[in-house]
Amino acid sequence: MSSDSRKIRLIMELRRSGISDTRVCAAIERIPRERFVPETLRHQAYENIPLAIGCEQTMSAPIVVGRMTQALELDERMKVLEVGTGSGYQAAVLARLCRRVYTIERHRDLLADAEAAFKALLIDNITTRSGDGTLGWPEQAPFERIIVTAAAADVPPILAEQLAEGGVMVVPVDHGRGESRLLRVRRGAEGLETEDLGEIRFVPLIAARGGG
Ligand code: SAM
Repeated sequence: MSSDSRKIRLIMELRRSGISDTRVCAAIERIPRERFVPETLRHQAYENIPLAIGCEQTMSAPIVVGRMTQALELDERMKVLEVGTGSGYQAAVLARLCRRVYTIERHRDLLADAEAAFKALLIDNITTRSGDGTLGWPEQAPFERIIVTAAAADVPPILAEQLAEGGVMVVPVDHGRGESRLLRVRRGAEGLETEDLGEIRFVPLIAARGGG
């Protein structure tokens, strides 16, 4: 099966699994996932599975990228913070749907590969930083949208502070019951409102002071 046919099969699978936002599906269709995958795994780039990217990390399965991107309710004027650049694939999908993405990764080697992929694909609205993403990006705050692509023990308070009025954060939270829940946190006039969007699987978010 050609890479194009695999991609079409994947998009149909995402639609069947609840990714109904056509802009999100179009962005996933336009970003070549194989460019963010280690060469040895390129034949699996359009399978709906997470893939190892080095540094004991994975890039999320396309259905997870679709669910989280759809949950963000993006528009093209928004400034978005991503915590956990990983391969850079999620950031590249976001970059097609918003004005600018600020993305933070704690592993410099992963960040270097992600930056090379952005450059090769001529994506010029992503700004990167290496470091502890739980501290956010205070110089660029507030953000209309924040996405955390690793499971936190709770909604990271510094990130919540960096959310604009009316802003939305999507974050997997693992309360230690053996499963992560995908939460959507909205900053309303009355404070933060949290919605549970269901179960999701993620590697842990590691705060620098946690030493991991
Ligand atoms: N969004 C990524 C992609 O599209 O490939 C997938 C992210 S992967 C599931 C989680 C990433 O979060 C890993 O690369 C990990 O190193 C990073 N990470 C974990 N804790 C972090 C932190 N406190 N600050 C920044 N990055 C962190």
